[in-house]
Amino acid sequence: MSIKINLAEIKATLPDNVTLVAVSKTKPNKAIEEAYDAGQREFGENRVQELVAKAESLPKDIEWHLIGHLQKNKVKYIAPFVSLIHGVDSIETLKEINKQGKKNNRVINCLLQAKIATEESKFGMSFGEIERILKGDAIKTMQNLNIVGLMGMASFTDVHEQIVEEFNSLKTFFDSTRLSTLSMGMSGDYKIAIEQGSTMVRVGSAIFGSRL
Ligand SMILES: *Cc1c(COP(=O)(O)O)cnc(C)c1O
Repeated sequence: MSIKINLAEIKATLPDNVTLVAVSKTKPNKAIEEAYDAGQREFGENRVQELVAKAESLPKDIEWHLIGHLQKNKVKYIAPFVSLIHGVDSIETLKEINKQGKKNNRVINCLLQAKIATEESKFGMSFGEIERILKGDAIKTMQNLNIVGLMGMASFTDVHEQIVEEFNSLKTFFDSTRLSTLSMGMSGDYKIAIEQGSTMVRVGSAIFGSRL
């Protein structure tokens, strides 16, 4: 299967209000160019260094998403150009994003990551913590960042019901906020995520093939 065909097949199944972020981590520029030539413009990477290197050498109208966990000290490298940061899970990181946004004279869009999976390893905040941030005073002073939505990852499991439940819990919480973007769903579970109300899916291997 070619990248172009994979992309077309996935896009054909997506509702109009769902954005596809093509997750190109570990894949060579050639693969990204193939997707780009097929019309894809939003790409996601989970490592800052790799994201910066690819952004430098690939077309400038690509919108780059940082989808993985972001360490505070690395915000500065992506602040000048990043389109959306998905994995923000602390007020400290928000402060740093705001600071770097100011330095770069731009407003940086980000998503707060909610922990919905049962696995210990997944990053993210509880709904309570997110609510405190959204309603808190600190955020009001941060004029160089814009929290546009939430992001979550379901447990890595074959139990369909559990994935449904985890995405559904995030969607229910999301609806209680006034945010516009709900990033949930990867290659293995994006169809379930869309059924549960996702507005943005992050799909890698189903487009580019498996990562070794
Ligand atoms: C790697 C990754 C994806 C894409 O995973 P696939 O299973 O290849 O679609 C999505 N979101 C995050 C946060 C990732 O790290």
